[in-house]
Amino acid sequence: MKVAVYDGPRQPFRIEERPVPVPEGDELLVRVGRCGICGSDVSTYTGAAGMEPGVVYGHEFAGEVVGLGGAVRGIEVGQRVTAQCVTGCGHCEECRQGHLVFCPEWRTHPSGGFGQFMTIPEREAYVLPPALSFEDGALVEPLAVGLHGVRLSRLDATSRVLVLGAGAIGLAAAFWARRLGAQRIAVAATSERRKSFAFEMGASDFITIGEEAEGLIHGSLGGPPDIVFECAGAAGATMRAMEWVGPKGRVVGMGYGLHPEQITTAVPLMKEILLQFSMTYDRQDYEEVIATLAAGHLEPRCMVTDTVPLEGLTRAVEGLLDGAPQCKVMVDPWA
Ligand SMILES: [Zn+2]
Ligand SMILES: [Zn+2]
Repeated sequence: MKVAVYDGPRQPFRIEERPVPVPEGDELLVRVGRCGICGSDVSTYTGAAGMEPGVVYGHEFAGEVVGLGGAVRGIEVGQRVTAQCVTGCGHCEECRQGHLVFCPEWRTHPSGGFGQFMTIPEREAYVLPPALSFEDGALVEPLAVGLHGVRLSRLDATSRVLVLGAGAIGLAAAFWARRLGAQRIAVAATSERRKSFAFEMGASDFITIGEEAEGLIHGSLGGPPDIVFECAGAAGATMRAMEWVGPKGRVVGMGYGLHPEQITTAVPLMKEILLQFSMTYDRQDYEEVIATLAAGHLEPRCMVTDTVPLEGLTRAVEGLLDGAPQCKVMVDPWA
């Protein structure tokens, strides 16, 4: 099978042939249909994430089951599936809840979605209903990240919501804030590029971050936000979220930042802010995302702005680094 191997910081992904994995025990052999490029894949490429070279990454995948290990009982060849970004031991409490990154034995998939085939355990597979495409299936992971954060925020219909950052996670947060009942949802970002996506995903307003931003946000929401989703992960963003949130407000950290962040603790203290971080998702999130898409709420499809072959992965990642006007780029390993 053809795969794109991470070859070290700033090295082009190496396209090579590897043997098709053989599904054993409870494993499914999946022919990958689509795999989205995540911000964390960009951090892998630059070396910032410190990921191990020689590995096939890609964790936002969906594909068709084409082979079964001998112990598979509930899934058949021909069904289409997705799964979480990592695999777990299968018997601890976190695995039972489906919050796999908290499994003490979690690990990345032996070979990821930037390849033509991969194996996943049956217990970790989520079957996609017939109405959903591979592309929809590959959007489940980033949408579940957004849903988990919005669930942790405990927002309700009266909440004034601010989303900082309009990447896939920020857009997903806006989508779920709307679906879970919030009416006033402002998305704020440093450029206008994603404005139309934000509205499509459910934002009631879009604000370009500049000197007037805080006043514009108050005007738009009818007061300071009760909840701020920090989805930018940029230097200073968490402090900015705490400056902009209202008294007794909540800041939900969903941005993946690898820089040290300076916090003036008097700011959150004087407002008695709750700072909550959100890490990936659990089984309930995955199931709700799939059910929501299957019910016809397909606005998130707007996030997919390009589809590239494995050979195009390096250029696509470079483009995202350089601020190319792409949102979610999909890899089609068979193109
Ligand atoms: Zn991701
Ligand atoms: Zn476990």
